[in-house]
Amino acid sequence: MDRRSLLRKLVMTPLLSPAALMLAQEGGVRPAHHGENGFINTDPGFAEAGFDEMAPWIAGKLTDVFSKAPKADIPREVNDGSALREQRPYTVTWIGHSTVLVQMEGRTILTDPVWSTKVGPFKWAGSPRVSEPGLAIENLPPVDIVLISHNHYDHLDEASIEELADRNPNAAFFVPLRVRDWFEDKGIRNVEEYDWWEGGSHKGLKIVCTPAQHFSGRWINDRNQSLWCSWVVTGKKRLYFGGDSGYCSHFANIGKRFGPFDLTLIPIGAYEPRKLMSPVHMNPAEAVQTHLDLRGRTMVGIHWGTFVLTDEPMEEPPKKLAEAAEAKGLNKGECTVMKLGETREW
Ligand code: ZN
Ligand code: ZN
Repeated sequence: MDRRSLLRKLVMTPLLSPAALMLAQEGGVRPAHHGENGFINTDPGFAEAGFDEMAPWIAGKLTDVFSKAPKADIPREVNDGSALREQRPYTVTWIGHSTVLVQMEGRTILTDPVWSTKVGPFKWAGSPRVSEPGLAIENLPPVDIVLISHNHYDHLDEASIEELADRNPNAAFFVPLRVRDWFEDKGIRNVEEYDWWEGGSHKGLKIVCTPAQHFSGRWINDRNQSLWCSWVVTGKKRLYFGGDSGYCSHFANIGKRFGPFDLTLIPIGAYEPRKLMSPVHMNPAEAVQTHLDLRGRTMVGIHWGTFVLTDEPMEEPPKKLAEAAEAKGLNKGECTVMKLGETREW
């Protein structure tokens, strides 16, 4: 896109969703998370870390961006995708980070698909990948639905999206508000864009965009100009996919409206240092509480073991998750992690 059309887009694209715009025109109330200069977090307890606190930490992290990935021992299982081609009613496969393949009632759903070896604004500088994807992109079964939680590079990866769209011309991409343009610029038109609590039906499944407490941005000039979210998919069974989020009151609301969930996919990594991360990334203990708030039955911890993003050791999140689940007196299998490439039924 040239500079003029980019500028025009920045100026002309309405911040409000069509539904919210209509509401505004009718004299209705603007949704609380639609701020004057971008989207905002609405939980009363939300307090973002200040620039003065954040800047030194970011400066310290810059060396990671240019370096090779450190070694990390993340358990994995060989998966060539052949078993996934025989659709079974309910399977879940962890590919890495927040990329999960879910088969559900004859449909194949992929969440935040990222296969790149570095995630960041440039191919040569970004958070390095420490573990190979558990399933090669060319070994995926045909994909029907792709869910995108927000536009951060470790969730919205250009190379992966373009390859997926090429291989799956009929796949529908579900995105939060103001992420559609990014797809359209790449010629991808099968995109459904929703605000929180909005959704649509797709081949028998109901898909709803639900809140999260986070932020967005891919460059210095677009902070919070697109929305962040989680997703609920309901058919005969119910699935919750959590994008990045701090722990907050949204989860109890989602649980009330759409729970109980048969399977919850909840982030358990990128939580240290707590002082800076807690508003926007939950820790494993909060992930267990989120699962309980959602009224989940089985939880798989995601968003760990893949990219170097924050200060906790790469292998730590599953240990902390097991401790937190035990402290809550939950059954052993209720809150777990999977091996890369592992498939389970749910
Ligand atoms: Zn994020
Ligand atoms: Zn993330």
